Amino acid sequence: MLSKEKAVAWRAMLSVSQQKSKDCYQSPAAGMSGSTRLVIQAVHVGLAVLRPIVKVVGRKHLERPMAWLESKVKGVMFDCQMCGNCMLNLTALRCPTRCKKQIRNGPCGGVRQDGTCELDPTMVCAWRDIYEHNGELLPDRLPPREFNFEGRSTWIAEALEGMPSVMPLPAKREVPAGRLEQDLASGDFVLTGEVAPGTAANASAVLTQAELLAPWVSAINATDAAGANAALSSMASCALMARNGYTAVLQMTCRDRNRIALQNDLLSATALGIENVLCLTGDGVANGDHPGAKPVFDLDSVSLIAAARTMRDGGTFMSGRALNAPPTYYIGGVENPFAPPFGARVQRLKKKIDAGAQFVMTQLVYDLPQFELFMEEVRRVGLDRRCHILAGVGLLTSPKTANWISKNVPGICIPDEIIKRLESAEKPMNAGIAITVEILRRMRTMEGLAGVHLMFHPSRLNLLGEILAQAGLDTKEGRRRNFAPELVGAESKAIA
Ligand code: SF4
Repeated sequence: MLSKEKAVAWRAMLSVSQQKSKDCYQSPAAGMSGSTRLVIQAVHVGLAVLRPIVKVVGRKHLERPMAWLESKVKGVMFDCQMCGNCMLNLTALRCPTRCKKQIRNGPCGGVRQDGTCELDPTMVCAWRDIYEHNGELLPDRLPPREFNFEGRSTWIAEALEGMPSVMPLPAKREVPAGRLEQDLASGDFVLTGEVAPGTAANASAVLTQAELLAPWVSAINATDAAGANAALSSMASCALMARNGYTAVLQMTCRDRNRIALQNDLLSATALGIENVLCLTGDGVANGDHPGAKPVFDLDSVSLIAAARTMRDGGTFMSGRALNAPPTYYIGGVENPFAPPFGARVQRLKKKIDAGAQFVMTQLVYDLPQFELFMEEVRRVGLDRRCHILAGVGLLTSPKTANWISKNVPGICIPDEIIKRLESAEKPMNAGIAITVEILRRMRTMEGLAGVHLMFHPSRLNLLGEILAQAGLDTKEGRRRNFAPELVGAESKAIA
């Protein structure tokens, strides 16, 4: 049972947080600055003038002189590298190639709390900058960069062809639902978990963890070289799980593979019996065990989701080449409610859902009041009715671990109150379990939340049964939506 004192404490934290940042996830339509708008309008006028000239003189005669002129003008103004994919008019004249992960649909989930870049704390996140200068609106789903356009004049391309501003998507195709999709559709509170594939060239670590998770969860993710540390692949781990009767979720990051390799893997997932894919941008390589590796980031999470949907529903690769048999997976994405700029978080979630995400797993939730505010905004814009949201839940076992995560893992936010509670506990492990149980109980009744994604260290999976039992989630009955447990205390809200 959640004690009265703890329920009161959560409510107090919630009300303080609401007073502080009631609108933190909302984006006031502040509008772009007048000077930015003026420059963009001038560019449009210039392109309108250029169009007939190019048609008369011919593209092949103008391409080189215009590319030279463009590089000089934009070089001075924007330090332009002539990528040939210019979209400055959609990004408030801030170049997205400054993003350290080359993301075209940021900001990523690793933005530091002070708004600087996950990979370079000396610079403001490029996408925070775009968001703020774009009148606190993210541009629509931007297509990935075409590397064969490098050095090309985008002025000519834009004057003649117009630049594609939104990635096209096929109409949705009905495919048979797997176990995770069916469980989410049932409306009951769903649990998922994840395995860390480890560094053994055999199946034992994956299958041992899967066996511990299986009694409770609808599906099991396999991480994709988590933290940029080399490991048994997510694909191999998921194939092993699928072969042994578990429902697997293939985690795919954009860090280590280009669009060809990613699409190969998307196709392979269905061929290997993997029912679900989870698309992420991924961490940078700097904190992993190969900091000198070349980061790829050819696609970002939004374009990977769109690619997965194009293959499944449109039956083609991104290039338009037809598939002989399209894949049938269920598509997921991730979001981090705790990374600034907060106003961009729900907008970015919407972009992922628009691109094809059918379920979304969040970063680990320790700051429950802030998560409540995020969910409030999600409900306000109706995203909980368009996609199933699963909140990330972990287990902190010592103040040392909590402090280390807080300082070293970008995007995870552990409130001071939780760290103090672990520090002052006689048995920090018990305090960590109590915190996880309280979070689970609150989430169980949170409107719009479809379930939780359990991210426990492999050595703590043996505690899962006890924790779920304390939270009232160890039985099917406990996870039913019409189940009205008194365990959540006075602050519980009715389930829609
Ligand atoms: S924080 Fe992420 S989105 Fe922002 S610049 Fe760095 S890598 Fe790019």
